[in-house]
Amino acid sequence: MDPGEEPGISTITKSDLKGRVLCFRVKYYQMSLLDFIFPKRCVVCGEYGTYLCKKDKTEIKWAETFCPVCLKPSISGTTHPKCKKKLSLDGLICLFDYTRPIKQLTHQLKYRFVKDLVTVIESEIKKVKVLKEIDFHSYTLLPVPLSGSRKNWRGFNQAEILGETAAKFLKIPYDSEILTKIKDTKPQAKLPRKERLTQLKGAFKARTDTVYGGYFLVFDDVWTTGATLKAAAAALKRKGAAKVWGLTLATSHKMARLERFELSTSGSGGSRSIH
Ligand SMILES: [Zn+2]
Ligand SMILES: [Zn+2]
Repeated sequence: MDPGEEPGISTITKSDLKGRVLCFRVKYYQMSLLDFIFPKRCVVCGEYGTYLCKKDKTEIKWAETFCPVCLKPSISGTTHPKCKKKLSLDGLICLFDYTRPIKQLTHQLKYRFVKDLVTVIESEIKKVKVLKEIDFHSYTLLPVPLSGSRKNWRGFNQAEILGETAAKFLKIPYDSEILTKIKDTKPQAKLPRKERLTQLKGAFKARTDTVYGGYFLVFDDVWTTGATLKAAAAALKRKGAAKVWGLTLATSHKMARLERFELSTSGSGGSRSIH
């Protein structure tokens, strides 16, 4: 045996191997650089490799349908005839209860846009039966607009992203230009209940030429007091919209029902004043 052969082969093989490993690593890191910086983890339990693990997926709860005016149960979310007023919503569909894991998913999406998170939500939207109960084929989906300053700060409007997803699923047109926000308002979540109910009055404006006689489905991420969707519906109806339904990804319905009960028993006239 050539005394120099073995170490020679061994050196070449080693460096070759090192190179391959390096190449593989570079390729791998290029492909999943974002995964490397922000590794995919279940938004609830933290399990690696997924945004929502199998176990937590089973925790998603479909919301029960209710009347957007009195908050009492209603078939398919239609506003009770006795509750209906000139500018009120004609109905409301909230897809999920605003509990884990929907709460975590929307929270993550609000502050960090990740396309895969939208995909997770989209696959859950497709399973909701109530969305197939109402015929929305003549409707146009409008996302609730954010005021200019807030949209710039976040860089995107999650109601727009999720709304577009819902419109695609329902196979209806999507238009983010019809409804605009004309009043700069504070984030609803940071306000006390009373202010939340009043600050959105007159905050939205609808484009007259495209609204008259139209059917609209206004999308927001979460229904809490309903002030946002009610203000949007009123703006559209003032301009002659024939029908306005609300659609939200989630609802903290039970909490809202409690709030309404508190308001009506405190003698303040109830939350109907927000119409
Ligand atoms: Zn999990
Ligand atoms: Zn009602």
